[in-house]
Amino acid sequence: MSSLPDAAPQDPGAHIVIVGAGQAGLMAAEALRSGGSTAAITLLGDEPHAPYHRPPLSKAWLAGEVDAAQLLMRAPEMLARKQITLRTDSPVQAIDRATQRVLLADGSALHYSGLVLATGATPRRLPLAGAEAANVLTLRSRDDAVAIADGLARCQAEGLPLVVIGGGFIGLEVAATARKKGVAVTVLEAAPRLLGRVLSPQLSDWYAALHRSHGVALALGAAIERLVVQDGQARAVQLADGRELPCGLVVLGVGVQPNDALAREAGLAVDRGIVVDACGRTSDPFIVAAGDCAARRLPDGRLLRLESVQNASEQGKSAAAALLGQERPFMATPWFWSDQYDRKLQMAGLSEGADQAVLRGSLENGPFSVFQYRAGRLVAVDSVNAAKDHLTARKLLEAGVSPTPEQAA
Ligand code: FAD
Repeated sequence: MSSLPDAAPQDPGAHIVIVGAGQAGLMAAEALRSGGSTAAITLLGDEPHAPYHRPPLSKAWLAGEVDAAQLLMRAPEMLARKQITLRTDSPVQAIDRATQRVLLADGSALHYSGLVLATGATPRRLPLAGAEAANVLTLRSRDDAVAIADGLARCQAEGLPLVVIGGGFIGLEVAATARKKGVAVTVLEAAPRLLGRVLSPQLSDWYAALHRSHGVALALGAAIERLVVQDGQARAVQLADGRELPCGLVVLGVGVQPNDALAREAGLAVDRGIVVDACGRTSDPFIVAAGDCAARRLPDGRLLRLESVQNASEQGKSAAAALLGQERPFMATPWFWSDQYDRKLQMAGLSEGADQAVLRGSLENGPFSVFQYRAGRLVAVDSVNAAKDHLTARKLLEAGVSPTPEQAA
């Protein structure tokens, strides 16, 4: 990937445009300012809201434990003080690389001397008969969360169950929150395990038991035939084995697709995400990308696309540094968290290809961590209500230190 021309964004009249006013976009904007950029900075979002925290949308906010004001990441006035122009409701429709302009849906265009793509991702929908019904919802935005909260309130009022399709983090968090509200919940997962791609079998089984202990009906290896729709509303989910599960609300949590269409249509390198190097640089020297929309090329040639707050924040900062002509590769140990019931999972590292799991603590009672090894090397640690273990694990993984399985236990 080519390096950026040092002087360009620092020219008087330089204008850095950021597409996407989410986690990565906001971090990039602020890092540009704190890194000394004197360019005009415009942060373009397609939502009506100023940047907000997404993680509480399936957790504390949905449970009614925090209000909308607490979701706000930065008030518009604070951005104005940093001379960052926030434009909400301003979707970008195309990038004209030849003239270095972004074209907005309202027909206007903005010239850029540096462009940050931080467009995030869009939840997948399923090609199921009936999936277009009004009460079949996905969760990505604040407005999505409001619709789900309304749907849960209707389920509560009418005594109707929630069916969650997809046993990933978002689906399981919504399931746990719905149980807190007393709504009956069924989770349908096509794979034989919950969170099977990211957790060790031991921890995956533990999550299944946790949800069942809270009254969730869990169907693993579930095949869905169709949704039964009446008056535009899904009334039941029909399984391939003939069972019909009544529902008042269906939440689809079957993963996301990176928002890479703008980049693809502009001819940038895209491969299930906008291809970037460790500094967020794309195949165009004036354009960087960060967050859920970006797929980072690893030294071994593979591409890594992560969906986490840490990744979006750090990649956003790296991308900003790249526009300032600085090298700030983001290669830190990935970490992630998930809250379900009163259990906080904290994950450090990447468990792909792990061939040995060692338990520290007790699965039955109290905090515990699962240390995962690949070919004898520690690659990931998943901790439940064990914040100290998690912090230690991050330090170990960062330093490349691999305790023996005996030491870990
Ligand atoms: P986003 O924050 O999605 O921001 C992208 C923005 O760009 C969006 O506002 C989008 O509408 C906008 N946009 C897209 N296209 C355009 C366009 N053409 N023009 C203008 N704007 C555009 N991560 C964790 O680490 N821990 C958690 O517990 C956790 N929980 C989560 C719970 C939920 C319900 C969700 C949805 C996500 C959760 N995540 C969690 C993931 C985390 O929130 C994301 O990885 C992070 O927000 C990604 O940041 P981003 O800036 O790449 O994308």
